[in-house]
Amino acid sequence: MILILVGAPGGGKGTQAAKLKEQFKIAHISTGDMLRENVKAGTALGAEANGFMQSGALVPDALIIKMIEARIKDADCKNGFLLDGFPRSLPQAEALDKMLTANKLKLDAVINLQVDEDELVKRLLSRGRADDNEKTIRNRLQVFKTQTEPVLGHYGSQKRVKNIHGMGAIDEIYTRILEALK
Ligand code: AMP
Repeated sequence: MILILVGAPGGGKGTQAAKLKEQFKIAHISTGDMLRENVKAGTALGAEANGFMQSGALVPDALIIKMIEARIKDADCKNGFLLDGFPRSLPQAEALDKMLTANKLKLDAVINLQVDEDELVKRLLSRGRADDNEKTIRNRLQVFKTQTEPVLGHYGSQKRVKNIHGMGAIDEIYTRILEALK
C-alpha cells in the first residue's frame, strides 16, 4: 500500500499518519520530521534546510527528492509507505512518479485532509513548534496554497484523490479515511 497524505500545516496529517501506519503496517515517511531530525543532529542537510524551515518556505526540491529517493529503499518500506508532507510541489510530484515507475511501485491513493483556515491557525498556535509563530504560519499557509495545492490537480487528473473532511474528532476523521480507501 502506497499512500500520500496532503493537507495544510496544522491539518492533522501527523496524527492520522500514525494511525494509518499501524493499520496497514506501512512505513510513515514525514519529510518534516526527517528534516527536523537533520537539523537537531547538525547534518549538512539540516544546516541547508534550517533557514527555509524557519521562514516557512519550502526546502529546495532537489534536497527533498534525494532524501525521499533514498528513504523508500529502506527495508521497512517493503510493505508500502505513507508519504506525509511530500510531495509538496509539482516538481516533487513529477519526481515521485518517476521514482515509483523506476521501482515498479504503484500509488494507491492521495488523501486530502480539508480543514478550515481559522481552525488551522488555532491548531498551529497551540502546538508551539519553533516554526509555529504567527508570521511563519501565515507564510506556510500561503506556500500551501500556491505550491502544494497544484499537486492535487496533478493527481486529480488521475482520479486518485480522496477528499476528506478534516474537522471533528480524530477518530471520526480516521473512519472517514478508512471508508474512502475501501
Ligand atoms: P511539516 O512538518 O510537514 O509541516 O514541515 C515543516 C517544514 O519543513 C516546512 O515548512 C518546510 O520548510 C519543510 N518541508 C517539509 N516537507 C517538505 C517538502 N516535501 N518540500 C519542501 N519543504 C518541506
